[in-house]
Amino acid sequence: MNDDDLLRYGRHIMLPEIDFEGQKKLLAAKVLIIGVGGLGSPVAIYLAASGIGEISIADHDIVELNNLQRQIAHDEKSLGQSKVSSCANRMNAINSKINIIQLDIKLSGEQLLSSVAKADIVVDCTDNLKTRFEINRACVQQKKWLVSAAAIRWEGQISVYHCGNKDSPCYHCCYGLRESGSKELDQTCSTNGVLSPVVGVMGSMQAIEVIKLIIAKGDLLVARVLLFDALSMQWESMQLPKNPDCPVCGQVQK
Ligand SMILES: [Zn+2]
Repeated sequence: MNDDDLLRYGRHIMLPEIDFEGQKKLLAAKVLIIGVGGLGSPVAIYLAASGIGEISIADHDIVELNNLQRQIAHDEKSLGQSKVSSCANRMNAINSKINIIQLDIKLSGEQLLSSVAKADIVVDCTDNLKTRFEINRACVQQKKWLVSAAAIRWEGQISVYHCGNKDSPCYHCCYGLRESGSKELDQTCSTNGVLSPVVGVMGSMQAIEVIKLIIAKGDLLVARVLLFDALSMQWESMQLPKNPDCPVCGQVQK
């Protein structure tokens, strides 16, 4: 770290849980963020500001007017531009020292697997179940940490999955029934609405869990889901059980 780094990251370094060693770990970390919309915007911005050394961002959408209500990485000037380049510009404006890899594609199949393989941690900021299940499968296969959140209406939820760990549940253990279940459960904010700052809260919490994972400090949301209700301003924590017969992570152990 040079003098500029010491100045830039001073408020991190002052935290005994981070210190120089922790900040060096952040600077050496590789994180993949899938989806740079409502959740992905605060994740990308905070992780860039925090000095995560290499951040890959994947999204195949372009910035539209109805995104600007909550997707704070983008602005009016980026309307019509790819979300990935718009988000990268914002991240770069905050921190030009980090390496930003732009994946302007619908990350799937082999490309998803190889991008997951290159990352230390994967952050799921997508908004549909099919993609979430595919990301989970890739993380289990590659034995990667997965930080997953969702937001809809006035509600949010967040969990961390220690994929590849035989004692930890994966996303499929917890929500697998939904994969073949009714379409009703695949709700997105495009049909239900979402309060703008709720995605900010949940995305910021994803960024916190990523940082804690990298510095290996604190208690993670592993095998737990934290539920947020903005209307009642209540948080609820629930245990997530491992499904020994899970078709995704159950096979890893055999
Ligand atoms: Zn599982």
